[in-house]
Amino acid sequence: MTTDPRFANARPVPYWFDTVAESAVCAPATSDCACDLAIVGGGFTGLWSALKARERHPDARIVVLEAKGCGQDASGRSGGFCAPSISHGVSNALSRHAAEAETLIRLGQENLDAYALDLDRYGMNAGFQRCGKLNVAATPWQVAGLNDMARKYERFGIAHTLLEGAALREKLDSPVYGAGLFEPAYALVNPAMMVSELRRVCLAHDITIHEQTAVSALTRDGAGMRLQTAQATLTARQVILATNSAEPLLRRLRLSIIPIYDYSLVTEPLSEAQWTSIGWTGPHGIADSGNQFHYFRKTPDNRMLWAGYDAIYHYGSARDEARLQRPESFGRLADQFAAAFPPLAGVRFDYTWGGIIDTSARTTFFSGLAGGGRVAYAMGFTGQGVSASRFAALTMLDRLDGADTERTRLKMPSRLAVPFPPEPLRSVAVSLAQRGLAHEDATGKRSRFLKLLDAFGIGFDS
Ligand SMILES: Cc1cc2nc3c(=O)[nH]c(=O)nc-3n(C[C@H](O)[C@H](O)[C@H](O)COP(=O)(O)OP(=O)(O)OC[C@H]3O[C@@H](n4cnc5c(N)ncnc54)[C@H](O)[C@@H]3O)c2cc1C
Repeated sequence: MTTDPRFANARPVPYWFDTVAESAVCAPATSDCACDLAIVGGGFTGLWSALKARERHPDARIVVLEAKGCGQDASGRSGGFCAPSISHGVSNALSRHAAEAETLIRLGQENLDAYALDLDRYGMNAGFQRCGKLNVAATPWQVAGLNDMARKYERFGIAHTLLEGAALREKLDSPVYGAGLFEPAYALVNPAMMVSELRRVCLAHDITIHEQTAVSALTRDGAGMRLQTAQATLTARQVILATNSAEPLLRRLRLSIIPIYDYSLVTEPLSEAQWTSIGWTGPHGIADSGNQFHYFRKTPDNRMLWAGYDAIYHYGSARDEARLQRPESFGRLADQFAAAFPPLAGVRFDYTWGGIIDTSARTTFFSGLAGGGRVAYAMGFTGQGVSASRFAALTMLDRLDGADTERTRLKMPSRLAVPFPPEPLRSVAVSLAQRGLAHEDATGKRSRFLKLLDAFGIGFDS
């Protein structure tokens, strides 16, 4: 609860949830059953896995087990920025995966093109727009970063435009940002509509979805696997784990991700004149370029989503619904909003929410096999999984099918990221990294601790 008048009318739920019609809950699993493929998790990764498995195996019995409702976690809470990347951007591919950077960059672009084709093919209306993204810089070192990004884009033939002065003000007019780089290949999607459409299409393709069905244990069972839920036991020939930031069911993955909380605001609807007053007349999304960055976009009913910056870790990797509301972070975001958009300083916020990011020390997803080849997993998207989840789903299916593909040959997802240390060291390491990132944002200088992490290919992001 907050007494801040800027949030007087705010609903403490993701704005996106209000953009889709409520649909009947898919019944929980109440009786034991056997299936060919059980998928744990009904976010983007789980639902793409189900749909793509159906394309490959028309007669298979496919069951999705979702602890809450489909898309209630990261997928439905996200900003909906669809990156033409599976590697958390071009710079990350080059700095951490130089040997296969070119392949990663191409596969990221192909994945987003194929994502758009899938939407058409299945008639999914998810508010998908290929409207581009503007990256903006607030400090001289961020401007240098954008110039460096432009050189890399040049090298890989990626369309982009560097913007300053009047050209920038045509896309965004803010006293905070002095330069920009526009990349037209980026897309935006309404994340709750996307979940809802994937869920609808899965159901239409004879995929069983059980919501409010948490899997509490996964064990071997003869030639298959056994999944324990509160009311039923399922046996499956193969299993996909798409549980993102939740504590992984496989013990071996528990040190590979940590939950980081990220927060979002959505304003009241803005008038045409208000959008014009900040120069934002196009449909594109925007993100600023600090380590602690904001991402912002328009909603279909002319509100602004303004999100990011804080990346909060809680001791012991606490995962707790109550922490999805954080007045301190909302207040900070609102102050930063007022500084970025002085003409909008009196605007109220109608929605506040948080979400948990599955941060991996490599800032990209990893995927592998367990249970003697019967279980595939993918997680660790670190805040860039809206489009990469589709690619991760295909990677897991390739692995379960025993197929040797360009996806399974990639080194980036095939190796587990450097594990996070156990507590209390974990909190100390996260805090040192965060302080280093804040220091770099303020001064442009990288701390010794961050340089040490860089040397080991370790990153911290959200
Ligand atoms: C606030 C926020 C903003 C983001 N913005 C962007 C963005 O703009 N662009 C972008 O690319 N990425 C963004 N991301 C990241 C992106 O949302 C995720 O990478 C992506 O949604 C991951 O999809 P998923 O299906 O793997 O995870 P989730 O959507 O989290 O789904 C996992 C599901 O598994 C279920 N589950 C977990 N454990 C169990 C269990 N034991 N039994 C049954 N079910 C279980 C959960 O209930 C959950 O529904 C954002 C993330 C957050 C939190």
